[in-house]
Amino acid sequence: MKGANASSSNPAECTLVPRERVAALAAVAARYAVAITPAMADLIDPADPHDPIARQFTPDVRELAQQPEERCDPIGDGLFSPVEGIVHRYPDRVLLKLVNACAVYCRFCFRREMVGPGQGALSPRALGYALDYVRSRPGIWEVILTGGDPLVLSPRRLKHVAARLAAIAHVKVMRVHTRVPVVAPERVTAALVRALRTDKATFVVIHANHPRELTKEARAACARLIDAGIPMLSQSVLLRGVNDDTETLAALMRRLVECRIKPYYLHHADLAPGTAHLRTTIAEGQALMRSLHGRYSGLCQPAYVLDIPDGHGKSPIGPNYLSADGREIEDFNGRRHRYPPRG
Ligand code: SF4
Repeated sequence: MKGANASSSNPAECTLVPRERVAALAAVAARYAVAITPAMADLIDPADPHDPIARQFTPDVRELAQQPEERCDPIGDGLFSPVEGIVHRYPDRVLLKLVNACAVYCRFCFRREMVGPGQGALSPRALGYALDYVRSRPGIWEVILTGGDPLVLSPRRLKHVAARLAAIAHVKVMRVHTRVPVVAPERVTAALVRALRTDKATFVVIHANHPRELTKEARAACARLIDAGIPMLSQSVLLRGVNDDTETLAALMRRLVECRIKPYYLHHADLAPGTAHLRTTIAEGQALMRSLHGRYSGLCQPAYVLDIPDGHGKSPIGPNYLSADGREIEDFNGRRHRYPPRG
């Protein structure tokens, strides 16, 4: 199996995919975008048919099988989009989707029906309307730049957007959701770091799913952001065959913390079309979270969350340690204690 061409959308050009599977995978590539960066391609062990990095980026014929519960827009972005580029689901924050392209295309992507090469960035006119929307609503405290991946844009464009957001008095926080520092760390240049810095608080939230993704280059890219005064958080997706065991998940969380990145969310995989083979059950996710609790530092504990289908927002999904009547609490060894204790 080695070596697929980085960023190729045609499996026939790829050498990460065995020759006999190429024809079958062409149908997947015709349906969903395919791309992998050199940084990620280099991490794949060609001798391992279950390689967790390959599993995230190389297409699979099972993607063509859509389950009845799967949805084209699993978290209901479209239902909460008052103007192009904006998703306004919660009272105090909005998503600003700057671009629908990414450096890689994750096989489990919740926006896989919207992202792909050539999807382009928000036009200057649409960006203007999106910023007008934010400007005219004083309740918007935080703007989350997302996409796609906003860090595929040039530093010049990012600087322009960051400066215009920073000029809105009621916007106090800008958050950037990205996979770039991990999958294309060379893009995190001094110019890009400067572009993100304004006089408002800026957080960068990286998406990483396996400890191997935090290469020396990725760690250096994150350090460039953090050293410039930009705090970092992480989000990971719980994926079958990638990180659905305690050892891998704990190693990922520890490595993130060692990079000064606070694990923020562990997402239960969304009901994106053709992704059933990558989803765990919620019970499996809760058992994994239990296995982290108490045995690994509190810094290494993300919140396990589910985006409720059809746009009802994100909710934490446990596990729960308090009994239904609120009178017993379970400790990290599974022992139950009455609360308050009997005098
Ligand atoms: S980087 Fe994010 S938006 Fe892009 S394909 Fe991966 S999950 Fe989807």
